[in-house]
Amino acid sequence: MSSCDPIIEVKNLYVNFYTYAGVVKAIDGVSFRICRGETYCLVGETGCGKSVTAKSLTRLIRSPGRIEKGSVIYYRDGKPVDLLKLGEEELRGIRGAEISYIFQDPSSSLDPLYTIGYQVAETMKEHGRVASIKEGIRRAVDILRTVLMPDPETRVKNYPHELSGGMKQRGVIGISLSNKPRLVIADEPTTALDATVQDQIMDLLKKLKAEEDLTVLLITHNMGLVADMCDRVAVMYAGRIVEEADVFELFANPKHPYTQALLRAVPNPMKRMDKLESIPGTVPNLIFPPSGCRFHPRCPFAMDICSRERPPDLEVAPGHRVACWLYTEHGGR
Ligand code: SF4
Repeated sequence: MSSCDPIIEVKNLYVNFYTYAGVVKAIDGVSFRICRGETYCLVGETGCGKSVTAKSLTRLIRSPGRIEKGSVIYYRDGKPVDLLKLGEEELRGIRGAEISYIFQDPSSSLDPLYTIGYQVAETMKEHGRVASIKEGIRRAVDILRTVLMPDPETRVKNYPHELSGGMKQRGVIGISLSNKPRLVIADEPTTALDATVQDQIMDLLKKLKAEEDLTVLLITHNMGLVADMCDRVAVMYAGRIVEEADVFELFANPKHPYTQALLRAVPNPMKRMDKLESIPGTVPNLIFPPSGCRFHPRCPFAMDICSRERPPDLEVAPGHRVACWLYTEHGGR
């Protein structure tokens, strides 16, 4: 993407988890960049490494996980900073302020002992945006109004257990936006919510993105959300990015056999379907990941080389990259 003004660039990221059963090679050489102002999606099945990648960006990986190598270059006022090398204190100044998160389960993101207003205020005070909690609580009313919380003057005094699931997630979004971040990482932000509330929250995110001039990294397994929300998409499988493209290009012209299978598995309300397509086989155990292309045991086009060597990352069209041997002299496509 030639006109990309990158806000963050992940290069060759490797993350392992050291468990009693063995070393889980969760992220295996992931690289991508997010352009300022876009919504970039990481999509894939549960366990493919989307959330681990998102948490690695600001070093939120906890033991037994470890970031082994790679870099996460964040462009802070135009200057590149490697977040994996930054001191903890300086990183804390970025995390929650310039880069903030919305996690999937609002109940576990909120502290049950404090009111929603206090939690918004505390986040702002921690990053020096308000001088006192009292001032923060006053500002929290406006923030809750921005995230379309009904009756924000009352809700600001409510504890999490007094709010519905949708209200809690609006509260979490309010906390996340309270310091005017540049990049918001939304990790399956609606998975724990009812379908109607999901729509409202995604509409809210779209509205806020436009109003607050945000860049969004959206983590999801839902191709419908990808189509609705994203500018560019990276498809992950077993700890690797297998394809990346502009959202229209990806849906119109998927290249990787895994992406093609994922799209075939999406129900189409315009077509009569007797049964949903599924991808044969199971997600691999990442303690013993398949050699070569990690998708080869499930791929209908697998060739000899696929089980032997990792496929190269190829640019098949401007801004469209795919990691698959089919697009080399071996596959002849
Ligand atoms: Fe299939 Fe081989 Fe391509 Fe992997 S590299 S997706 S196994 S054709």
